[in-house]
Amino acid sequence: MKLLVAVKRVIDYNVKVRVKADRSDVDLANVKMALNPFCEIAVEEAVRLKEQGVASEVVVVSIGGKACQEQLRTALALGADRAIQVEAQDSPDALSVARILAKIAETEQPGLILLGKQAIDSDNNQTGQMLAALLNRPQATFASEVKVEGEHLLVTREVDGGLQTLKLTLPAVVTTDLRLNEPRYASLPNIMKAKKKPLEVKTAEDLGVTVGSKIRLLGVEPPAERSAGIKVGSVAELVEKLRNEAKVIA
Ligand code: AMP
Repeated sequence: MKLLVAVKRVIDYNVKVRVKADRSDVDLANVKMALNPFCEIAVEEAVRLKEQGVASEVVVVSIGGKACQEQLRTALALGADRAIQVEAQDSPDALSVARILAKIAETEQPGLILLGKQAIDSDNNQTGQMLAALLNRPQATFASEVKVEGEHLLVTREVDGGLQTLKLTLPAVVTTDLRLNEPRYASLPNIMKAKKKPLEVKTAEDLGVTVGSKIRLLGVEPPAERSAGIKVGSVAELVEKLRNEAKVIA
């Protein structure tokens, strides 16, 4: 069974996000970028399925500018076999991404498509669901455990107040949650080997998809600055301030 994993280049989660001076968007100039953490979990799960002998090949795909080849190489260093970059200049919306992934799935015919539950830049949580709908395939979102059983897939999902287990017929689409696995670190030899693994570049036009966005970003506001705290000298002073200044106790 072939596995297709969609990976997105996003701002590194350790970076404190800055907003552009004109508040038109997040400032990405000279900011460290990384593989979206949920996509990293998806790659790890695919590689584990290959290591268990359940899958035969892991193909990773990213839609974006040339820079996203860096994240594809990371995925290759983590154990994926080959990569596809679909060239796109501006950030395409979730539907355009899902359409592109659907076209790739038509040619690649994967038994399972893994995506992150959400990209941490836009927090859309849409692409996997749209892809499953476009392909008319069963889907399981927020997976915390994935088990292949013959023609079926057992997926445990974290839902409010407990766990839910779904049985899907393959081929299917799964989006990964945080507790599915703990991704490995890429070793130096694997980073070197990844440089020689195949990376194919396509365009959306090659796939017959018009990339666009039906969503217009109107503005971005940073969170309000927190004002500095104060030190109190005694419990009595604390109680006095809570009562008379903060007015949170009577
Ligand atoms: P979103 O729906 O934007 O929150 O993204 C959910 C998942 O869809 C991500 O974790 C990726 O697996 C996939 N995805 C979204 N955008 C892209 C992209 N530009 N290239 C590849 N995969 C993507």
